[in-house]
Parts: sequence; C-alpha cells; structure tokens
Amino acid sequence: MSRFEDKVVLITGAASGIGAAAARRFAREGASVVVADLNAEAAAATAAAIREAGGKAVGLAVDVGNELQVGQAITSTVEKFGRLDVLVNNAGIGSFGRVDMLSTEEWRRVMAVDLDAVFFACRAALPHLAQVRGAIVSTASISGTAADYGFAAYNAAKAAVINLTRAIAIDHAGEGVRANSISPGYVVTPLTAPLQADDRIGEAYRQLIPLGRPSMPEEQAAAILFLASDDASYITGANLIVDGGLTAATGQPN
Ligand code: NAD
Repeated sequence: MSRFEDKVVLITGAASGIGAAAARRFAREGASVVVADLNAEAAAATAAAIREAGGKAVGLAVDVGNELQVGQAITSTVEKFGRLDVLVNNAGIGSFGRVDMLSTEEWRRVMAVDLDAVFFACRAALPHLAQVRGAIVSTASISGTAADYGFAAYNAAKAAVINLTRAIAIDHAGEGVRANSISPGYVVTPLTAPLQADDRIGEAYRQLIPLGRPSMPEEQAAAILFLASDDASYITGANLIVDGGLTAATGQPN
C-alpha cells in the first residue's frame, strides 16, 4: 500500500513505541515523515533507520509542552517539505498519583505534555492542514474513556484529548480537515515496561483482555494510518478504541 505517497506527516513522540511504529509505517506507505521527539538522539536514530530502509524521514528535537518549540516544529516542517498533510499528536507521559497525592507541579507537567501539547500543535498546524484537506490523529487512551486507579492527571488529560479532538473535528470540518483519536489499551512499549516486568500483572491482563494479549505498537500504528488516510474520508470526531476488547467487557467475572 502507498496511501501516503507525496504526503508530509509530522508525528510527536515518534522516537519510541507507538509513534516510532507509526513513523515506520507512514514512511513505508510513501510519506515524508518528521520524527519529532524530546529525545533528539533517539529521533535522529529512528529517522536514520527509516532512511536506511528506503523511506523519507528527518528527526526533529521538540518538547511538545513548549508552545514556541511546537510552533517552530510545524513551521520548519512546512518550510522544508512545502506542506503538512497529517499531524499525529502522540507524545505522552504517564504519571502515577491519586488527586490527594498529586502536587500542582506534577499535575501541570502531565497536562503540559498530554494535553496542552495537542492544543499547541493543532493550533499551529490547522492553517496548513486546511490548505491540503489534511488530517489530525491524536493518541488518547482507554484511560480517557474510563479511569484507571491512581492515574488522576493522566485520566483527565486523555479524556480532554478525546473531547478536544471532537471540538476540532466539528469546528474545522468546513475547511476539510478531519480530526480523530485512537484509544489504545495495553501496548508493549517502554511506557509499560513496569507492567511487562511483572508476571502477576501479565496474567491478570491475559484474563482481562478478550483477545488474550497486549497490543504491539504496530497494531496501534495501523489504526493511526487508517484514520489519517482517505479510507477514513467520512470519519471525523471519532475515538477509535484499540484495546483487544478490554473495555467492551463490563468487568464482571467470567
Ligand atoms: P513511549 O514512552 O514508548 O514513547 C513516548 C515518546 O514520547 C518517547 O519517545 C518520549 O521521548 C516522547 N516524549 C515524552 N515527552 C515528550 C515531550 N515533552 N516532547 C516530545 N516528546 C516527548 O510510549 P508509548 O507507549 O509509545 O506512548 C505513546 C502514546 O500512547 C502516549 O500518548 C501514551 O499516553 C499513549 N498510550 C500508550 C499506551 C501503552 O500501553 N503503551 C496505552 C494508551 C495510550
């Protein structure tokens, strides 16, 4: 498939996990990919690996919680490639803490990376996306459709990403821009390393997830590419749950 031939795609948090899998797949399908990440070295390495495999990619150091840097990332992408067709807001951080445990600083840190960043990037990208009837895909979470114990700030930020996505979808549909989110369940990435290291948790997930296993990042990337592609031309404001059926179950014993 080459659904993204001649398209320019910027992905945040693209040096690792879901973002890196999406970067590789977009490149395989013909896109020029901007691999944006806080970790400059890892972004450069991911982009280099894509180029070695015959794809088009550049690494870009950006802190998505920094409004100025996000604006510059969008501007430099358009200056370099002449257009922006797809923005993937994927960078994210987890943070443990109930409300009564969270400092204001930690709340703001999570909101900056998991929510403000989506606002900054969408606002900067929308004028460019409108010129090419482009698309936005944001990585939310099933923690944004229901809540995980002990992750108050993350739950709140991801819920807001889902509704911000709907707001953008309806406000900018007239410009031809589509906006959707995906909500992954449990994905095998560095973010979930502590879960992967615990056999007891692994077994609990196998019991809880109807498909019986966690997701690989490539399975999330496939959903991102679908929503970004013309195959999803009539889909906007949607939140696609990609969780192996985890949230389809009521949670009552089987
Ligand atoms: P990951 O840790 O493998 O990758 C996240 C990337 O984001 C890293 O490369 C990191 O350097 C980058 N990043 C962090 N802070 C940044 C910042 N301020 N600016 C720019 N880049 C920054 O994690 P992942 O699992 O691939 O997560 C990707 C997205 O998927 C996140 O939004 C996460 O909340 C979401 N998600 C993950 C899971 C899961 O189970 N792994 C489940 C649901 C949602």
